[in-house]
Amino acid sequence: QAKRQGKNQYFVYNMELDKMASRRMELEKDMQLALTKGQFVNYYQPKWNADTNYPTGFEALLRWKHPAYGIISPDEFIPIAEETGMIVSMTRWVLEQACRDCVQWNKHEPEPLTVSVNLSVKVFDSKNLMDMVLFALERSSLPAELLELEITETIVMNNVTDVVNQLKPLQDMGITISMDDFGSGYSSLGSLDLIPFHTLKIDKLFMQQSHSPAKRAVVNTIITLASQLNLQVVAEGVETEQQLDFLKASGCQVMQGFYFSKPMPRDQLDEWMAALNRAHIQGIS
Ligand code: C2E
Ligand code: MG
Ligand code: MG
Ligand code: MG
Repeated sequence: QAKRQGKNQYFVYNMELDKMASRRMELEKDMQLALTKGQFVNYYQPKWNADTNYPTGFEALLRWKHPAYGIISPDEFIPIAEETGMIVSMTRWVLEQACRDCVQWNKHEPEPLTVSVNLSVKVFDSKNLMDMVLFALERSSLPAELLELEITETIVMNNVTDVVNQLKPLQDMGITISMDDFGSGYSSLGSLDLIPFHTLKIDKLFMQQSHSPAKRAVVNTIITLASQLNLQVVAEGVETEQQLDFLKASGCQVMQGFYFSKPMPRDQLDEWMAALNRAHIQGIS
């Protein structure tokens, strides 16, 4: 502890860039033990069905509770984990925890609620995906139909054949495959039908720019495209009632965003569901 403080003091005299580099190095070092120390936590954000006014499931979004830095966002530590290879054991942990949690929250639910896990391209490179998924499902006894895997379009487009070969058997088991952040990178529209996807998630960038008629036109086109390809569509980053109304009018029923809920830890999810169920009961009576 004293050693770390001394080191931090030294960096105070350096420039911002040095501080960032040192933080990165420290995170890289601390990450090795963070898993076994229990510093990683799955947060969960609901996917909201605006037709039924009820969630269809939750997306697992990883947080790192660092003893010195506090909660660190995945945008910061996932790239480090990808570089060091830690991402594979990290994903294994996220998957197992997510499957166990999903079994738990379904104990109190009449309708089955899914869980989604984000996958990095490095997990496809490691060739461990199938084993990891089978193990997580077996250990938790979660039905494969309740597990969803989210993959960004960039991952797929950079390596269509390999990724499709790994996804196909997972889909055959009943697992749902989603294309995450759709519209934010390069996707070849010509390859879309080659990929075993069930869901397109419209990148939150489109909601952030939904005041623009051109962006709204693109969203409408994605929704139409999805329906013609028999794909589900989910909008990400919904923050306002106007965005919700626009999406409903455009034929998109499932959405995620701070308007419904921020990602929350497991115990808060239970409270959130309990409050929702109370509201539904009151709404009926
Ligand atoms: P993502 O999978 O596209 O997740 C959506 C991100 O948008 C999440 O950020 C979520 O908190 C945020 N978000 C949700 N609703 C809103 C909203 O209404 N407004 C705004 N401004 N943001 C919203 P988060 O949790 O920081 O995660 C960032 C990214 O990190 C994720 O993007 C995903 O690519 C990656 N990630 C998170 N957990 C994991 C993981 O376990 N494994 C891997 N490989 N990647 C992960
Ligand atoms: Mg995602
Ligand atoms: Mg996304
Ligand atoms: Mg993203």
